[in-house]
Amino acid sequence: MKIYLNGKLVDKEDAKISVYDHGLLYGDGVFEGIRSYDCLVFKLKEHIDRLYNSAQAIRLKITLTKEEMIKAVIGTLKANKLRDAYIRVVVTRGEGDLGLDPRKCKAPSIFIITDKIVLYPKQLYEKGLSIVTVPTPRNIPEALNPQIKSLNYLNNILAKIEAINFNVEEALMLNKDGLVAECTGDNIFMLKNHTLMTPPTAIGVLAGITRQCVLDLAPKSGLNAEEKLITRYDLFNADEVFLTGTAAEIIPVVNIDGRTICNGKPGKFTLNLIKEFRKVTKTQGVRYAL
Ligand code: PMP
Repeated sequence: MKIYLNGKLVDKEDAKISVYDHGLLYGDGVFEGIRSYDCLVFKLKEHIDRLYNSAQAIRLKITLTKEEMIKAVIGTLKANKLRDAYIRVVVTRGEGDLGLDPRKCKAPSIFIITDKIVLYPKQLYEKGLSIVTVPTPRNIPEALNPQIKSLNYLNNILAKIEAINFNVEEALMLNKDGLVAECTGDNIFMLKNHTLMTPPTAIGVLAGITRQCVLDLAPKSGLNAEEKLITRYDLFNADEVFLTGTAAEIIPVVNIDGRTICNGKPGKFTLNLIKEFRKVTKTQGVRYAL
Protein backbone atom coordinates (compact mmCIF):
# COMPACT_ATOMS: atom_id res chain seq x y z
CA MET A 1 0.00 0.00 0.00
CA LYS A 2 1.40 3.39 -1.03
CA ILE A 3 0.92 6.40 1.20
CA TYR A 4 1.13 10.01 0.04
CA LEU A 5 3.56 11.78 2.34
CA ASN A 6 4.65 15.36 1.72
CA GLY A 7 4.58 15.16 -2.06
CA LYS A 8 5.83 11.59 -2.46
CA LEU A 9 4.21 8.18 -2.68
CA VAL A 10 6.01 5.92 -0.23
CA ASP A 11 5.51 2.37 1.05
CA LYS A 12 3.44 2.06 4.22
CA GLU A 13 6.55 0.90 6.14
CA ASP A 14 8.38 4.07 5.14
CA ALA A 15 5.49 6.46 5.84
CA LYS A 16 6.88 7.94 9.06
CA ILE A 17 6.70 11.36 10.62
CA SER A 18 8.76 12.97 13.37
CA VAL A 19 7.98 12.53 17.07
CA TYR A 20 8.39 16.33 17.15
CA ASP A 21 5.40 16.76 14.83
CA HIS A 22 2.81 18.89 16.63
CA GLY A 23 0.03 16.76 15.19
CA LEU A 24 1.32 14.00 17.43
CA LEU A 25 2.52 16.12 20.37
CA TYR A 26 -0.60 18.32 20.61
CA GLY A 27 -3.25 17.09 18.19
CA ASP A 28 -2.45 20.28 16.29
CA GLY A 29 -3.79 19.58 12.84
CA VAL A 30 -6.89 18.79 10.80
CA PHE A 31 -8.19 15.83 8.84
CA GLU A 32 -10.91 14.43 6.59
CA GLY A 33 -12.45 10.99 6.15
CA ILE A 34 -13.64 10.48 2.58
CA ARG A 35 -14.91 7.52 0.55
CA SER A 36 -14.67 6.38 -3.00
CA TYR A 37 -17.38 4.26 -4.54
CA ASP A 38 -16.57 2.43 -7.76
CA CYS A 39 -13.94 4.98 -8.89
CA LEU A 40 -15.96 8.02 -7.77
CA VAL A 41 -14.62 10.02 -4.82
CA PHE A 42 -17.89 10.96 -3.18
CA LYS A 43 -18.31 14.71 -2.54
CA LEU A 44 -14.54 15.19 -2.77
CA LYS A 45 -14.76 18.96 -3.33
CA GLU A 46 -17.00 19.37 -0.28
CA HIS A 47 -14.55 17.41 1.88
CA ILE A 48 -11.60 19.43 0.60
CA ASP A 49 -13.48 22.69 1.29
CA ARG A 50 -14.18 21.54 4.87
CA LEU A 51 -10.51 20.55 5.32
CA TYR A 52 -9.33 24.00 4.25
CA ASN A 53 -11.98 25.67 6.44
CA SER A 54 -10.83 23.63 9.44
CA ALA A 55 -7.22 24.62 8.67
CA GLN A 56 -8.16 28.28 8.30
CA ALA A 57 -9.93 28.16 11.69
CA ILE A 58 -6.70 27.03 13.40
CA ARG A 59 -4.52 29.34 11.27
CA LEU A 60 -2.82 26.45 9.54
CA LYS A 61 -1.70 27.24 6.00
CA ILE A 62 -1.93 24.19 3.77
CA THR A 63 0.96 24.33 1.31
CA LEU A 64 -1.02 22.67 -1.51
CA THR A 65 -3.79 24.36 -3.46
CA LYS A 66 -7.18 22.64 -3.33
CA GLU A 67 -6.63 21.43 -6.92
CA GLU A 68 -3.25 19.95 -5.97
CA MET A 69 -4.82 18.27 -2.94
CA ILE A 70 -7.52 16.71 -5.13
CA LYS A 71 -4.81 15.44 -7.52
CA ALA A 72 -2.87 13.99 -4.58
CA VAL A 73 -5.97 12.11 -3.36
CA ILE A 74 -6.71 10.70 -6.83
CA GLY A 75 -3.03 9.86 -7.40
CA THR A 76 -2.90 7.86 -4.17
CA LEU A 77 -6.07 5.91 -5.06
CA LYS A 78 -4.65 5.13 -8.50
CA ALA A 79 -1.28 4.05 -7.10
CA ASN A 80 -3.12 1.56 -4.89
CA LYS A 81 -5.57 0.51 -7.64
CA LEU A 82 -8.53 1.06 -5.32
CA ARG A 83 -12.04 1.34 -6.76
CA ASP A 84 -13.72 1.45 -3.35
CA ALA A 85 -11.81 2.97 -0.49
CA TYR A 86 -11.77 4.89 2.74
CA ILE A 87 -9.49 7.90 2.36
CA ARG A 88 -7.88 9.75 5.24
CA VAL A 89 -6.35 13.15 4.50
CA VAL A 90 -4.30 14.61 7.34
CA VAL A 91 -2.55 17.96 7.62
CA THR A 92 -0.55 18.56 10.79
CA ARG A 93 1.19 21.71 12.00
CA GLY A 94 4.45 19.90 11.22
CA GLU A 95 7.71 19.43 13.05
CA GLY A 96 8.47 21.95 15.80
CA ASP A 97 10.10 21.97 19.21
CA LEU A 98 8.60 20.74 22.47
CA GLY A 99 6.77 24.03 23.10
CA LEU A 100 3.29 24.86 21.85
CA ASP A 101 4.36 27.72 19.58
CA PRO A 102 3.10 26.94 16.06
CA ARG A 103 5.51 29.54 14.63
CA LYS A 104 8.34 27.07 15.33
CA CYS A 105 6.78 24.60 12.91
CA LYS A 106 8.22 25.46 9.52
CA ALA A 107 6.00 23.38 7.25
CA PRO A 108 2.86 21.28 7.70
CA SER A 109 3.05 17.52 7.26
CA ILE A 110 0.53 16.28 4.71
CA PHE A 111 -0.33 12.64 4.31
CA ILE A 112 -3.05 10.64 2.60
CA ILE A 113 -3.92 7.07 3.47
CA THR A 114 -6.20 5.08 1.17
CA ASP A 115 -7.41 1.80 2.53
CA LYS A 116 -10.23 -0.71 2.39
CA ILE A 117 -13.33 0.51 4.17
CA VAL A 118 -14.31 -1.26 7.40
CA LEU A 119 -18.08 -1.17 7.79
CA TYR A 120 -20.52 -1.72 10.63
CA PRO A 121 -21.90 -5.29 10.36
CA LYS A 122 -24.74 -5.60 7.80
CA GLN A 123 -27.18 -6.79 10.45
CA LEU A 124 -26.95 -3.42 12.25
CA TYR A 125 -28.43 -1.73 9.16
CA GLU A 126 -31.26 -4.27 9.11
CA LYS A 127 -31.94 -4.41 12.85
CA GLY A 128 -30.82 -0.91 13.86
CA LEU A 129 -28.34 0.43 16.37
CA SER A 130 -28.67 0.99 20.13
CA ILE A 131 -27.01 4.10 21.53
CA VAL A 132 -26.70 5.67 24.99
CA THR A 133 -26.44 9.25 26.19
CA VAL A 134 -23.02 9.68 27.77
CA PRO A 135 -21.98 11.99 30.64
CA THR A 136 -19.17 13.68 28.67
CA PRO A 137 -20.65 16.73 26.88
CA ARG A 138 -19.54 17.68 23.35
CA ASN A 139 -16.77 20.29 23.32
CA ILE A 140 -18.13 23.80 23.72
CA PRO A 141 -17.86 25.80 20.48
CA GLU A 142 -16.37 28.78 22.36
CA ALA A 143 -13.36 26.61 23.33
CA LEU A 144 -12.84 24.11 20.51
CA ASN A 145 -15.56 24.32 17.91
CA PRO A 146 -16.74 20.85 16.78
CA GLN A 147 -17.03 22.34 13.28
CA ILE A 148 -13.24 22.17 13.19
CA LYS A 149 -12.37 18.60 12.24
CA SER A 150 -9.17 18.67 14.24
CA LEU A 151 -6.75 15.91 15.17
CA ASN A 152 -7.79 16.40 18.79
CA TYR A 153 -10.52 13.77 19.08
CA LEU A 154 -10.20 13.03 22.80
CA ASN A 155 -13.64 14.49 23.52
CA ASN A 156 -15.14 11.92 21.14
CA ILE A 157 -12.90 9.11 22.38
CA LEU A 158 -13.95 9.71 26.01
CA ALA A 159 -17.58 9.49 24.90
CA LYS A 160 -16.84 6.35 22.89
CA ILE A 161 -15.28 4.71 25.98
CA GLU A 162 -18.45 5.52 27.93
CA ALA A 163 -20.58 3.94 25.20
CA ILE A 164 -18.39 0.83 25.17
CA ASN A 165 -18.79 0.60 28.98
CA PHE A 166 -22.53 0.33 28.33
CA ASN A 167 -21.97 -2.32 25.65
CA VAL A 168 -23.15 -0.18 22.76
CA GLU A 169 -21.27 1.01 19.67
CA GLU A 170 -22.19 4.69 19.66
CA ALA A 171 -22.61 7.49 22.19
CA LEU A 172 -25.17 10.25 22.05
CA MET A 173 -23.38 13.45 23.04
CA LEU A 174 -25.27 16.46 24.41
CA ASN A 175 -23.92 19.98 24.37
CA LYS A 176 -23.24 21.90 27.59
CA ASP A 177 -26.92 23.00 27.71
CA GLY A 178 -28.16 19.43 27.56
CA LEU A 179 -29.30 19.68 23.94
CA VAL A 180 -28.72 16.79 21.56
CA ALA A 181 -25.50 17.47 19.62
CA GLU A 182 -24.13 14.47 17.72
CA CYS A 183 -22.49 11.09 18.15
CA THR A 184 -18.75 10.38 18.36
CA GLY A 185 -18.32 10.02 14.61
CA ASP A 186 -21.78 10.64 13.17
CA ASN A 187 -24.51 13.28 13.02
CA ILE A 188 -27.98 12.50 14.32
CA PHE A 189 -31.39 12.95 12.72
CA MET A 190 -34.93 12.37 13.93
CA LEU A 191 -38.20 12.19 12.03
CA LYS A 192 -41.52 13.38 13.45
CA ASN A 193 -44.70 13.84 11.42
CA HIS A 194 -42.89 13.86 8.06
CA THR A 195 -40.35 16.44 9.20
CA LEU A 196 -36.67 15.51 9.41
CA MET A 197 -34.76 17.36 12.09
CA THR A 198 -31.09 17.63 12.95
CA PRO A 199 -29.38 20.03 15.37
CA PRO A 200 -27.96 23.27 13.92
CA THR A 201 -24.15 23.35 13.66
CA ALA A 202 -24.03 26.46 15.86
CA ILE A 203 -24.84 24.44 19.00
CA GLY A 204 -21.57 22.53 18.53
CA VAL A 205 -21.87 19.95 15.79
CA LEU A 206 -19.70 19.00 12.82
CA ALA A 207 -21.21 20.12 9.51
CA GLY A 208 -21.29 16.55 8.20
CA ILE A 209 -21.12 16.02 4.46
CA THR A 210 -23.55 13.10 4.76
CA ARG A 211 -25.79 15.27 6.95
CA GLN A 212 -26.01 17.88 4.18
CA CYS A 213 -26.66 15.18 1.64
CA VAL A 214 -29.62 13.89 3.67
CA LEU A 215 -30.98 17.43 4.12
CA ASP A 216 -30.81 17.79 0.31
CA LEU A 217 -32.51 14.42 -0.26
CA ALA A 218 -35.44 15.06 2.08
CA PRO A 219 -37.81 16.81 -0.37
CA LYS A 220 -37.39 13.97 -2.91
CA SER A 221 -38.40 11.52 -0.21
CA GLY A 222 -41.55 13.51 0.58
CA LEU A 223 -40.14 15.00 3.77
CA ASN A 224 -39.58 18.48 5.14
CA ALA A 225 -36.16 19.05 6.62
CA GLU A 226 -35.02 21.57 9.17
CA GLU A 227 -32.21 22.34 11.58
CA LYS A 228 -33.82 22.41 14.99
CA LEU A 229 -32.88 22.28 18.67
CA ILE A 230 -33.55 18.73 19.84
CA THR A 231 -33.84 17.33 23.36
CA ARG A 232 -33.77 13.73 24.57
CA TYR A 233 -37.53 14.09 25.10
CA ASP A 234 -37.88 14.74 21.38
CA LEU A 235 -35.79 11.69 20.49
CA PHE A 236 -37.77 9.44 22.84
CA ASN A 237 -40.96 10.54 21.05
CA ALA A 238 -39.53 10.41 17.51
CA ASP A 239 -41.08 8.36 14.71
CA GLU A 240 -37.62 7.41 13.46
CA VAL A 241 -34.00 8.15 14.39
CA PHE A 242 -30.83 7.57 12.37
CA LEU A 243 -27.18 8.56 12.23
CA THR A 244 -25.20 9.83 9.24
CA GLY A 245 -21.49 9.75 8.47
CA THR A 246 -19.02 8.99 5.74
CA ALA A 247 -18.14 5.54 7.09
CA ALA A 248 -21.59 4.58 8.43
CA GLU A 249 -23.57 6.29 5.62
CA ILE A 250 -27.12 6.22 7.09
CA ILE A 251 -27.72 3.82 9.97
CA PRO A 252 -31.05 3.40 11.79
CA VAL A 253 -31.22 3.83 15.58
CA VAL A 254 -33.87 1.75 17.36
CA ASN A 255 -32.95 2.12 21.00
CA ILE A 256 -31.71 5.08 23.06
CA ASP A 257 -30.81 4.72 26.75
CA GLY A 258 -32.64 1.41 26.89
CA ARG A 259 -35.83 2.91 25.47
CA THR A 260 -37.27 1.57 22.25
CA ILE A 261 -37.73 4.16 19.50
CA CYS A 262 -41.15 3.84 17.88
CA ASN A 263 -41.66 0.11 17.21
CA GLY A 264 -38.01 -0.86 17.62
CA LYS A 265 -37.46 -1.45 13.91
CA PRO A 266 -35.73 0.72 11.29
CA GLY A 267 -38.37 3.10 9.93
CA LYS A 268 -39.61 3.10 6.34
CA PHE A 269 -38.45 6.65 5.65
CA THR A 270 -34.97 5.82 6.96
CA LEU A 271 -34.83 2.76 4.72
CA ASN A 272 -35.97 4.84 1.77
CA LEU A 273 -33.34 7.51 2.51
CA ILE A 274 -30.68 4.77 2.60
CA LYS A 275 -31.80 3.73 -0.91
CA GLU A 276 -31.77 7.31 -2.20
CA PHE A 277 -28.38 7.95 -0.61
CA ARG A 278 -26.88 4.88 -2.31
CA LYS A 279 -27.98 6.35 -5.68
CA VAL A 280 -26.28 9.65 -4.90
CA THR A 281 -23.00 7.88 -4.06
CA LYS A 282 -22.93 6.70 -7.67
CA THR A 283 -23.24 10.15 -9.19
CA GLN A 284 -21.85 13.00 -7.06
CA GLY A 285 -18.11 13.44 -6.81
CA VAL A 286 -14.84 13.29 -8.71
CA ARG A 287 -14.27 10.32 -11.03
CA TYR A 288 -10.99 8.60 -11.76
CA ALA A 289 -9.89 5.75 -13.96
CA LEU A 290 -7.67 2.86 -12.93
N1 PMP B 1 -19.62 14.18 13.60
C1 PMP B 1 -18.36 13.82 13.90
C2 PMP B 1 -17.84 14.17 15.25
C3 PMP B 1 -17.57 13.13 12.97
O1 PMP B 1 -16.32 12.77 13.28
C4 PMP B 1 -18.12 12.79 11.72
C5 PMP B 1 -17.32 11.99 10.73
N2 PMP B 1 -16.39 12.74 10.08
C6 PMP B 1 -19.44 13.19 11.43
C7 PMP B 1 -20.16 13.87 12.39
C8 PMP B 1 -20.07 12.89 10.10
O2 PMP B 1 -19.51 13.72 9.10
P1 PMP B 1 -19.40 13.26 7.59
O3 PMP B 1 -20.77 12.94 7.13
O4 PMP B 1 -18.81 14.42 6.88
O5 PMP B 1 -18.52 12.05 7.56
